[in-house]
Amino acid sequence: MLPPALDMVRQLVATPSVSSPDDRFDQSNRGVIDLVAEWAAGLGLAVRIEALPGDSGKANLIATLGEGEDGLVLSGHTDTVPYNAERWTDDPFVLTERDGRLHGLGTADMKGFFAAALHAIARFEPGQLRAPITLLGTADEESTMDGARALVRKGERLGRYAIIGEPTGLQPIRKHKGVFYVQVTVGGKAGHASNPALGVNAIDGLLRVLGALQSWRDTIGERYHDDEFEVPTPTLNFGRITGGDSPNRICAECKLDVDIRLLPGMERPAVVAELRDVVANALDGGPWTFDVAAIGGYADAFGGPSDTEFSGAVETLCGCSAKTALFGTEAPFLAELGLQTLVLGAGDIAVAHQPDEYVTIAAIERATDVYASLIQRFCIEST
Ligand SMILES: [Zn+2]
Repeated sequence: MLPPALDMVRQLVATPSVSSPDDRFDQSNRGVIDLVAEWAAGLGLAVRIEALPGDSGKANLIATLGEGEDGLVLSGHTDTVPYNAERWTDDPFVLTERDGRLHGLGTADMKGFFAAALHAIARFEPGQLRAPITLLGTADEESTMDGARALVRKGERLGRYAIIGEPTGLQPIRKHKGVFYVQVTVGGKAGHASNPALGVNAIDGLLRVLGALQSWRDTIGERYHDDEFEVPTPTLNFGRITGGDSPNRICAECKLDVDIRLLPGMERPAVVAELRDVVANALDGGPWTFDVAAIGGYADAFGGPSDTEFSGAVETLCGCSAKTALFGTEAPFLAELGLQTLVLGAGDIAVAHQPDEYVTIAAIERATDVYASLIQRFCIEST
């Protein structure tokens, strides 16, 4: 027997699982994995906990009910983003109910998903299933996507269809942009500010680079276009410039950090190579050195499932057509594993990663019904 959904969310929220590229905030997700594993095992699912390589204390969970190859995967990440406790009305790790809203860190993104998915699975007996239902819980989606990456490395076939329960207001999402960061370093030579001939000013070099990147941004906006997105072109944001140390010294080095959002179909390595050429051309003939490097994690763009029957069936069940999103998910990784994938879950992405994040009880109940209908459709009626 499962605890009521509300109690499950309360326990999951009370179990911290922050993931961050910053070691000061990064935590293990093992507590959440163990809770979900215990509930899944109680329902008769075969449960595997797979530790990620290294000693991070992180793990993925794969829990399956039924047998066969062509089942349905319900997938969620078990980690949350870091938080600013002082900006929350209440303790982010204590589930607080106000006006039907369940406030707490990770309620919408996406601990509430596990309560909805498990309660949906609980409505079925193993003997009813003609194709298996698999519950996937991943690590580090909010930081490095290393959990999903580990699954892809193993290359195990997990099923035929997948639903990622990220908060989409229960409207299916079938494609999203990709994001990655690039750092451009321009090198010069320090010297006394009184005589420019004594050095090479890196900021002068960066100025050329910025102008060239602005033109390039316009060019790729003309080359790539997808009207289904709210922002229909790739974007390139100059997010941070650092460098130099004193007004009276010639700046020896400066760095520019750029956020690039790609449309489905654009290849990250090709874009980085092109950007490198733009920087090289901008500085050509000058005295500067330069480097272009991808930094931090990345999320690839997701172009949607090829199986239109699958998306059609999910759209019919939800009573609305699939949309696009500007946020990244683990969908490209699941697609790489051969899964026909859509994103569909309770809660609003606008409250995720925010103080006082919440999901409503009603939304979790609706998600439970939708997931149960999907199991009925893809694990019982069709194989
Ligand atoms: Zn999420």
